[in-house]
Amino acid sequence: MTDEKKQNWERFPSREACIEQVAELMSVRATGAEPLALVRTYGCQQNVADSEKLRGQLREMGFSFTENEEEADLILFNTCAVRENAEFRVYGNVGNLKGLKRKKPSLIIGVCGCMMEQAHVAEKIKQSYPYVNLVFGTHVVHKLPELLYQTLTSGKRVFARGDDSEDKTIVEGLPIHRDRDIRTWVTVMYGCDNFCSYCVVPYVRGRERSRTPQAIEEEVRSLIAAGYKEIVLLGQNVNSYGKTLEQPISFSALLRRLDQIPGDYRLRFMTSHPKDATKELIDTMAESKHICHSLHLPFQSGNDRILREMNRHYTREQYLSLIAYARQKMPDIAFSSDIIVGFPGETYEEFRDTVSLVEEVGFASLFTFIYSPRVGTRAADMEDPVPPKEKSRWFQELLDAQEATADRLTDTIVGTTQRVLVEEVSEKRGVLCGKTEGNLNCDFPGPESLVGQFVRVKITESRNWVLKGTLLTDTTDTKA
Ligand code: SAH
Ligand code: SF4
Repeated sequence: MTDEKKQNWERFPSREACIEQVAELMSVRATGAEPLALVRTYGCQQNVADSEKLRGQLREMGFSFTENEEEADLILFNTCAVRENAEFRVYGNVGNLKGLKRKKPSLIIGVCGCMMEQAHVAEKIKQSYPYVNLVFGTHVVHKLPELLYQTLTSGKRVFARGDDSEDKTIVEGLPIHRDRDIRTWVTVMYGCDNFCSYCVVPYVRGRERSRTPQAIEEEVRSLIAAGYKEIVLLGQNVNSYGKTLEQPISFSALLRRLDQIPGDYRLRFMTSHPKDATKELIDTMAESKHICHSLHLPFQSGNDRILREMNRHYTREQYLSLIAYARQKMPDIAFSSDIIVGFPGETYEEFRDTVSLVEEVGFASLFTFIYSPRVGTRAADMEDPVPPKEKSRWFQELLDAQEATADRLTDTIVGTTQRVLVEEVSEKRGVLCGKTEGNLNCDFPGPESLVGQFVRVKITESRNWVLKGTLLTDTTDTKA
């Protein structure tokens, strides 16, 4: 932090005082009996996890939550910068708040998250959306009480982005207001150092840094004790977890440590970068008690030239041999992946290599994106001659190929017995809904009392990405 910035912060009351002051100021300002906040999340699970920290801090400041813009006293949009259409949606939704702010001048509007770490975006909000009161980036999520205090007392609009020291730090111990009570997220590392040529994440999330295994284990233990049944470990590239810690440790070692925690729960993790996914990781999954046999392994492109241009550091062959090794160790493993269609300079033949890889591997699910240029990335300066219409055609071709392969894959699951974590009752469909270890949705009739439990389900049919089945012997499954 610069000296000037330090002095500014030092003029501030302490964090605890800010929490108290905001609570007091908001209780007067609120239009209802208690201050209400609306926190809307765009983008990936890391943002979902950050929003839970924002809500946790808001709770400390006396806020309750609403989804209704009209009744909110504070609206906070936690934004995503990964693709252009996510940004457009944010601009549209912020634009829509103009009328509301006019009707209710006491409303505080804040915009935060990845988009706000980009100087040109923060500037656009400053210039074009004068009714936005507070703008802050991913590195200062933990400073919400101070930022709100400043917004409420300074009479000025507040703009805060992380500085060089903040994009390297990890703040432990923030209160977390979790959205769900069966499945939840635990961040194991922040940031990314990979600089894939199309990707803005390293610019908006800062340098790669890992939480200590002690802090992670403590959080996972407390979640299991609180009754959570599925914990998803999060990081942009979990396979490089632990490399920068004072006492370096591998992600596989972390998984083995967490797997020792007693209880009836399951673990997943994302995202694995293929360049750092090791045989040791696969062996650890195969030997573990709690890790699902399901792996999200984004390959982005099936063509070696494009992979090089993307700065991904693996080849199609290496990717396929990892898949083969994992299948050999865990025949029931389910794969999912991310793909980019229409990277600058990609030819139709090169794109077909992506389709053939999809057909060869057989993914349970895919997240497919048309390339979107991001300011400041290397790919944004590359020649991109293929017209958007053509890219959309390729995109559809890929979806068709995936549908046919996934249908074949889910057909092979019909007749098997799956261990399903029951997550909710669907009133509309009159069934229980849950997820298999392979992360596929599964519907089956059963009593509501099974929500939050593991059960065994015989799969009888697969339709439109959802498996249907019957509950076996109505007893719950306790594998652990
Ligand atoms: N860290 C993860 C992914 C983070 S971003 C990983 O390395 O796999 C999530 C996905 O968004 C990426 O996997 C990629 O498929 C997609 N993506 C990222 N930047 C993009 C861009 N500029 N245009 C289109 N898709 C993009
Ligand atoms: Fe982006 Fe690549 Fe980092 Fe994933 S690994 S966040 S795609 S730079």
